[in-house]
Amino acid sequence: MLVKKYQDVPEEKIETEGAKGAWIRWLVSDKEKAPCFAMRQFRLEKGGYTPLHTHDWEHEMYVLEGKGVAISQDGEKPLSPGVFMYIAPGEKHQFKNLGEGELHFLCMIPLPGRCSSGPKEEAGKENCQKKSSSC
Ligand SMILES: [Zn+2]
Repeated sequence: MLVKKYQDVPEEKIETEGAKGAWIRWLVSDKEKAPCFAMRQFRLEKGGYTPLHTHDWEHEMYVLEGKGVAISQDGEKPLSPGVFMYIAPGEKHQFKNLGEGELHFLCMIPLPGRCSSGPKEEAGKENCQKKSSSC
């Protein structure tokens, strides 16, 4: 069993175009030999956001801390601790921190090549994970 704190995992800046003040930690992924899913923790600085984007795999998300907004074709929905989200494959999405502090949330995705709608393994794991790290 793996039991750690999120601070034990190195944080990487999201450099994708359209992102600002956005950071990711891959808490669980194929590095830990997880067969199917990755759990990532995102941190948006004050005024930060992820890029507006879409892809073929889903996101399952949970807000831990802060205040913000989730943007999709359905409009804007407020984010606060305890809110969870399901982003369907192909649905446009973006997350913005509108609070005075940081916005922290978890985002689970299928690992590359492990789900028919997931990131494709043959495209190169590094690239897939880079792409999906934009959340
Ligand atoms: Zn996404």
